Amino acid sequence: MSRISTEIDFDKDGRQTGFLRLPHSVDRSAYGWIPIPIVCLRNGPGPRVLLMAGNHGDEFEGQVALAKLARSLTADQIKGRIIILPTANAPAARAGKRNSPVDGLNLNRCFPGNINGSPTEMIAHYIETVLLPQCDAVIDVHSGGQSLQYVPSTHIRRSPDADRFARASALMEAFNAPFSWVFEGARETRALNAAAERCGIIALGTELCGGGTVTPNALRIAERGLRRALAHLGVTALDPPDAEILPSRRLQVGSYPFYVYAEDDGVFEPLVALEDVVTADQPAALIHPVDTPWRAPHEAHFKQAGIVVCARVPGRVERGDCLFHLATP
Ligand SMILES: [Zn+2]
Repeated sequence: MSRISTEIDFDKDGRQTGFLRLPHSVDRSAYGWIPIPIVCLRNGPGPRVLLMAGNHGDEFEGQVALAKLARSLTADQIKGRIIILPTANAPAARAGKRNSPVDGLNLNRCFPGNINGSPTEMIAHYIETVLLPQCDAVIDVHSGGQSLQYVPSTHIRRSPDADRFARASALMEAFNAPFSWVFEGARETRALNAAAERCGIIALGTELCGGGTVTPNALRIAERGLRRALAHLGVTALDPPDAEILPSRRLQVGSYPFYVYAEDDGVFEPLVALEDVVTADQPAALIHPVDTPWRAPHEAHFKQAGIVVCARVPGRVERGDCLFHLATP
């Protein structure tokens, strides 16, 4: 089924830690493999959940939250099974980069993967053909990474299956992030949430801040949300301090008009901030030319009204870089 192997027995009760062994033949290691850390907790039959972070290696909040969860949970605290991949694209996570330095690929644009492909394609293939089919739900913890900053949020994809969509929606509410939204008209077939759809299981994603760092606030939201989501799925018990429901704004995100892109190269001067409510045609940013500072800056505009949920972080931009994206109630 896959060229990736592991010493983990997914049907065995108890707590197991180890590696997925991703074959990789290079000069310094002819028959070597890339280690991808994995933790499996099982306690009899019950709900089966996959928790992932490090799908993008420069999104650190989930990597920390899942490592802490993996260390703190014992098998007797759960019913069913939890598989944890804190650094799903391990070479990218090791490098602290969005894409893998081994093959340059973005794991979340590689599904359904390829059994004989490059390392990132083989990871995608393993997740889609080995892990997802033996799970009922997957939570994929993302954030804005180096280039973007998000409001702390969870998201689900609009599913053509009404029952599956209702269950994903309930899981998103259980996570109880300050913002939660639905990707309407999602057309990306190469992402993990599309893989989950193909496997008939529910998927919850997050966008927990970002900027290439970890903040106490983002981590608190991640850890609390994960505990609440696991309890909702019936795989763990809910700790009393997590039972309180906090305010969460329910939004939707559409396609192209929700996004603002740089149409020139230069220095990015944002004119709005996260959580600002904007109108159609409102100026979003000025892009200042670096070599000809006497020229007027290019003005980028919002194409529609909405709430700013994502903003670019680095000060330098090139034509085609995403500056902002919006959500609507
Ligand atoms: Zn990501």
